[in-house]
Parts: sequence; structure tokens; C-alpha cells
Amino acid sequence: MSLIVQKYGGTSMGSVERIQNVARRVAKWHAAGHQVVVVPSAMSGETNRLLGLAKELSSQPDTRELDMLASTGEQASSALLAMALMAQGVAARSYTGWQVPVRTDSSYTRARIRSIDDVRIRTDLDAGRVVVVTGFQGVDDEGNITTLGRGGSDTSAVAVAAAMQADECLIFTDVDGVYTTDPRVVPEARRLNVVSFEEMLELASLGSKVLQIRSVEFAGKFKVPVRVLSSLTDPLISLEEEMASGTLITFEEDKKMESAVVSGIAFSRDEAKITLLSVPDTPGVAYSILGPVAAANIDVDTIVQNQSVRGTTDFSFTVNRNDFARALDLLKNQVGPAVGAADIVPDENVCKVSIVGIGMRSHVGVASLMFRTLSEEGINIQMISTSEIKTSVIINDKYMELAVRALHKAFGLDQETPAVI
Ligand code: ADP
Ligand code: ASP
Ligand code: MG
Repeated sequence: MSLIVQKYGGTSMGSVERIQNVARRVAKWHAAGHQVVVVPSAMSGETNRLLGLAKELSSQPDTRELDMLASTGEQASSALLAMALMAQGVAARSYTGWQVPVRTDSSYTRARIRSIDDVRIRTDLDAGRVVVVTGFQGVDDEGNITTLGRGGSDTSAVAVAAAMQADECLIFTDVDGVYTTDPRVVPEARRLNVVSFEEMLELASLGSKVLQIRSVEFAGKFKVPVRVLSSLTDPLISLEEEMASGTLITFEEDKKMESAVVSGIAFSRDEAKITLLSVPDTPGVAYSILGPVAAANIDVDTIVQNQSVRGTTDFSFTVNRNDFARALDLLKNQVGPAVGAADIVPDENVCKVSIVGIGMRSHVGVASLMFRTLSEEGINIQMISTSEIKTSVIINDKYMELAVRALHKAFGLDQETPAVI
């Protein structure tokens, strides 16, 4: 008997028929003698619908109330799933985040899980029930409902699996695994049987929405075996077939030794760039600019500052588009005048495209092939950032899909045996 945590995303929970299929799949695992905890997302489109309603009432809705609102989507699907299971003769019980409880900090709309109490869940599992734990939500020390950021049900599932020391965490979604890039953008993208934990961490942090970054962090910290697989297959396929499908996140690097230099391409439209022109090139300027930005709880991503010969330099950085208006306001009214910037130039039409692969550690020429490919497409690179296993560029967002397709081809990711440089 194993303890399995299964997460079902929005599309997987998207209609009554799909919820019934989820229940069939869960019932199959339960009937085979396994203990199952299920973490469902809100039905597809529901979170957007709720947040849209809030925006109609206020341009900057109160974040505590946003969490009260957004968390209801998952609560509805949890109750529906428990009902669907019971209708199929499976004993089941659903719990909200605060009933478990899933304790978080108080950062509304982006809360971090601190602990998960497993007592109630274990009692139900031991009584032979399937337990449905509501995804995406938690409760802070004052009893306020919090949510974990968009895509946060992935994190709920992996965190529950970590807390319960589950044997596997299965992330069921609308694709049958992790691909070399988003198959919606590049139809030739190929599914990876395994992806190393480090690569998955980079891909998720650079915009691949298939897993929320925090879920990958939890998987790494607690060594949770995570598999991404499709919820749209026949729910009654054999357990062996199911466990051989999808993409496994592996912690064993040698499994990847034979593989490509670049394993995947990620992209993100959630970027916006701000440039301060002619700021003094003196010690402390970066801090004077980015200190107040950090104090306003705005994450900064890529940063570029040139050296100067005339004593002044231009300073550019990117932020998430959701924070763009706030960041620009802060810079125009406070930071820019304080550091003596000649002007502040906003640019919301940027995106980030990144190539990722642990093979980049041991190969030279990877970044240069990326730059050559983009230049052949006439795409101007505005900013570059690198780490050991990734290179990211900021480019005009109208070229995003072209860049992703061209890079996917240039690195041979559409081939069975990708190019080795
Ligand atoms: P869920 O609602 O199940 O959480 P998401 O929409 O959050 O599903 O994530 C699955 C989607 O992630 C896929 O439909 C796909 O378009 C997108 N995606 C982005 N990058 C990748 C990738 N490298 N591999 C697979 N899917 C990806
Ligand atoms: N429903 C939430 C969202 O749309 C959480 C999730 O689906 O994981 O972001
Ligand atoms: Mg998701």
C-alpha cells in the first residue's frame, strides 16, 4: 500500500463530466489498496472570473478580500469532487486549507506555506477514506484565508506530499508531461521522460506554467517524487501504464548525462522594463534605485547597468507586469528625482525567452548559438542574463513566439537526438 497525492488542474476539473472522470481515476487507485489524498484546482476559468469581478469593483482591490474571493473556486471543486467520489461508492471527505490546517504567512495573494498538520488527513485515510484537500489556499496565524499565488495548487499538492511523506505526488494536467517548450506555441515540442530537478526549477522560474516554481522548490527540499501526467487519458488505464507515463522530475543527474545540451525553452510575457537615463555612476546608485523598489515588495528580475566614461550611466531593470504601474509610480515620483535621473523610460512590450539545460555547464558556444539564431531572425536583444544552466534574453514581445520556435529548431529540440554543439 502506498500513499499517493494526486493534484488535478483547472482543465482536469473543468466540467461535471471531467470531475466524474477524476473521481473514476481516484477510485481506481483507492480500489487497488492505496491511500489517496487529492488536491483539486478551481474549475478552469473560475479564478480569472472571480478576479475579474474584483477588478470591476476596484482597480486595486484589497488583497485580503481578494484571497477570500479567489479561494472559493477551489473550495467549490473540492466539495464537488468529494460528492463525485461518494456517488461512485468511495468514502471521501473534503477539507479547506484552514480545516487541515495548511498554515501560511500573511502575504496575501502570494503566501508561503509554513506547515501542514497531517492529523486529520491521516485519521481519515486510516478510516479508508479518500481525502480531498483544497488547493491554492491556507490560513495565517490570525485566521485569515490566504492564497499561494497563481498556479498555487501545484504547491499545495507537493507540500501535502512532503508533509505526509507520500510515496509519489502525481500532478495531473491537460498535457501528458513536461515538454521541451510549451506545446501550444511549438507543436513540434517533445515530451521529456525525465527532467532534472534543477532544470525544472529553472524552467518553472523562467515562466513554464506547467508547474508553479514553489512546488518544484518543495519537491527539491523534501525530495518528493513528482510526476507530471495527463488527466485526459482513459481514467481506467492500468496503474502500471499510468506510472510509466508523463514526466518524472529526477534528482539523479546521471540520468541526464546522455541528454541534450539544452533541454528546454521557457518564456514569459509577465515582464516590463524600466530604464533610468543618465544616473550618476557612483557607489550606492543601484542601492538607491532598487532599495525603495524592494521595500515596496516589488520583485526585480533582470538588471543591466553599463559602465560610463562621462560619469553617468543608464540603468535598466525588469519587474513583473502586475507590479509595473506601482514600480513606475515609485520611480517617477520618488526614486528618479532622488538619484537625479534625466528621464525614466517605461516599456511594457517586452518578454523574456530562456534556454535551459544542465549540459550548458560543460559546453561552450551555447549562448552564442542563441544570439546567432535571434540575429538571423532580426530580433534585437535588449538585456541578457545568465546562470550556470540558463541564458535569458529580454526582447520585444511581438517576437516572442518567433524566437521560441527558432531557438527550439536551432537547438534540435524537435529531433529525437537533439543537436550537440
Ligand atoms: P493546470 O490547470 O493543470 O495546472 P496549467 O495551465 O497551469 O494547467 O499548466 C499546463 C499548461 O502549461 C499546458 O497546457 C501548457 O500549455 C503549459 N506549458 C508551458 N510550458 C510547458 C512545458 N514545457 N511543457 C508542458 N506544458 C507547458
Ligand atoms: N486556481 C488557481 C489559479 O488559477 C490555482 C491553480 O489553478 O493552481 O491560479
Ligand atoms: Mg497550473
